[in-house]
Amino acid sequence: MTSPPLVNSVPRSHALATRVLIVDDEAMNRAMLGGMVKRHGYRVIDTGDGSQVLDLIAEDVGLVLLDIVMPEMDGFEVLTRLRRIRSAVELPVIMVTASDDKDQVVKAFRLGANDFITKPVDVDIAMARIETQMQLRNSQAALRESEERYALAADGTNDGLWDWQVSSGEVYISPRCKSMLGLGPDDELASIDDLLMRIHTDDRKRVEWELNAHLQGLIPHFEAELRMQRDDESFPWVLCRGTAIRNENGVATRMAGSLTDITEGKVADALTGLPNRLLFRDRLQRAIDRRLGKFAVLYLDLDNFKLVNDSLGHEAGDQLLIAVAKRLENSVRKSECIIARLGGDEFTVLLEGIDSAQEAKQVAQRIIDAVSQPITIERGGREVFPTVSVGISYVEGRGRKVDDILREADTAMYNAKSNGKSGYRLFETEMHQQAKQRLDIESELRRALERNEIHLEYQPIVELGTGKLSCVEALVRWEHSRLGSVSPLKFIPIAEENGLIEPLGIAILKMACNQLARWKQARPACEDLSVNINLSSKQLSSNEIVDVIAEILDEENLQPRDLQVEITESALMENPHQGVRLLKSMRNLGVRIGIDDFGTGYSSLHCLHQLPLDYLKIDHSFVNEMTHSKDKVAIISTILALAHHMNLSVVAEGIETDEQRLQLLGMGAEFGQGFLFARPLTSRQLLSLVDEMEAR
Ligand code: C2E
Ligand code: CA
Ligand code: CA
Repeated sequence: MTSPPLVNSVPRSHALATRVLIVDDEAMNRAMLGGMVKRHGYRVIDTGDGSQVLDLIAEDVGLVLLDIVMPEMDGFEVLTRLRRIRSAVELPVIMVTASDDKDQVVKAFRLGANDFITKPVDVDIAMARIETQMQLRNSQAALRESEERYALAADGTNDGLWDWQVSSGEVYISPRCKSMLGLGPDDELASIDDLLMRIHTDDRKRVEWELNAHLQGLIPHFEAELRMQRDDESFPWVLCRGTAIRNENGVATRMAGSLTDITEGKVADALTGLPNRLLFRDRLQRAIDRRLGKFAVLYLDLDNFKLVNDSLGHEAGDQLLIAVAKRLENSVRKSECIIARLGGDEFTVLLEGIDSAQEAKQVAQRIIDAVSQPITIERGGREVFPTVSVGISYVEGRGRKVDDILREADTAMYNAKSNGKSGYRLFETEMHQQAKQRLDIESELRRALERNEIHLEYQPIVELGTGKLSCVEALVRWEHSRLGSVSPLKFIPIAEENGLIEPLGIAILKMACNQLARWKQARPACEDLSVNINLSSKQLSSNEIVDVIAEILDEENLQPRDLQVEITESALMENPHQGVRLLKSMRNLGVRIGIDDFGTGYSSLHCLHQLPLDYLKIDHSFVNEMTHSKDKVAIISTILALAHHMNLSVVAEGIETDEQRLQLLGMGAEFGQGFLFARPLTSRQLLSLVDEMEAR
């Protein structure tokens, strides 16, 4: 392409010219032509001297009527000079010739004339030709002006412009485009291939797909975010937009558009360099719009990221995120997906070119495996074991919304998390129901305390050998008028998340201690009874809890040894430093500490030595299966040996049969809890039980 079409011409002539310049050495001819043109609404200037023409071309001159035969300087010479400064498009010239001498006409056209009229002048023909040229010129000027305006505007917004002749492959790019690509002002691209070659290999396939789809008329506009290689080998993100111009058969002949540098903040996440939420949503929208093929959105959330951030510092957290981003990039075929960081420790992957949900699951597993490799954090050389939970939304049909798809993937991710983390879940419609129920529970739970819907039940823990009541475990209950009785397994995790666990936990402590004090007053047999309280990990995050416990014990006139707190292994692992510190100060107070659900967590056994402990609770899942699983029996005896070695007592929970009781007793467990002895009881039921035992 020789002349760049968009931005090369400086505006020199008005879009709407109304003046005609008449050049003729004979005054009568000038008067005659002038009168004719004026009658048709044009203004006129004239001259008999061809050498003056260049000076007379004012801005509003839109056409020249030029006599060929003149004494000083003939029409050909004038035309030649004129064309040096004005193109045939900018300033049409109509030659006026005495005869229709073929040679003269041909010569005039060759020199850049636009048309000719013959003397004597036929007014209708002459005016038709003049008006045609004038209109053509004015519309061209208007077009150019608007293009120039566009170019100027584009310059203002820092966009680059490109223009591609589809048939020849020639491509023009504006200076701004060049600078985006790291090219000098004089560098040119030989063809469109030069441009396409610069597209990052991970983006190329997708961009070419979009481009072809637009050229074929499948999508109305071409628009793609992509990375373009600069000459310095960096890959800035650009937003490339364009529209094809089609011939009457609908075939794209030319395509033009813009290039916008969007690297800065707009689409890239500053920390990881991955696309951000904005870009991801945009890409997802496009995947939906295409209505072709199937795709999936994977929603990723690191497990326990907060722990790393809180315990090792933000820099370590950042390092972890960067490392995870790299692993993500390495674990998926990038040409068919886009990986984004939504913020915090949340990432998303848009998987295109898949055929089934099964494929999406495989990718999810691959991601989980890749992310779960240990990472050494540079600062301090700490080793971190990241894991990630993944939710999948698989999309096959049409008419889906970006927000819905993301919400589904998020819901599925949430499900994966509550299913023990480091796993994936495919979204199912029931999950919506569950998510709704969760919201319902959450909003109702906020008022549960003030509405007195919360109370406690107490499950006895007995000496396995004698059956004697040793203590009771307080178990929270929530009776809601519409929801019925909601299991603590459901609402405790919700309360932990929204912070309600703190007031709730304190209320539970108060109720339990108050109840124990009353039993002690009511029955001498309860003198040695103590109560076990379940503490959630979130309650181990502030110093306050120790003071609160001391206060409550004081208020109820209880001894510290009347209270035992149970904390699960995994809760402790969530915040080991702070947790251990707080447990130590509780124990210094005289409160006893037990590990709940022991065996299900992943704390290494030798960690136990560092903990201030009094008892272990063997998780009911082991007890449940011990009669038909040798493995479980082996685990139980290991736990027992360990506990006794450390001078800890052991409570076996979930004992439902006498067989289990006898086997556990034989293995050396001291205490037991379970339906075999008693279900969780109301305080009145517990008193009856105490009385019954006394009577025996
Ligand atoms: P957990 O601390 O392990 O409590 C024991 C759970 O096992 C109780 O369920 C109890 O009813 C049940 N259980 C007792 N004996 C048997 C048995 O023989 N067979 C079977 N299948 N189950 C038995 P519950 O009351 O639904 O509590 C569930 C969990 O909710 C508790 O597990 C605890 O983690 C949490 N939780 C309960 N109350 C509180 C509380 O006040 N605060 C906190 N933070 N968590 C609580
Ligand atoms: Ca417990
Ligand atoms: Ca338990």
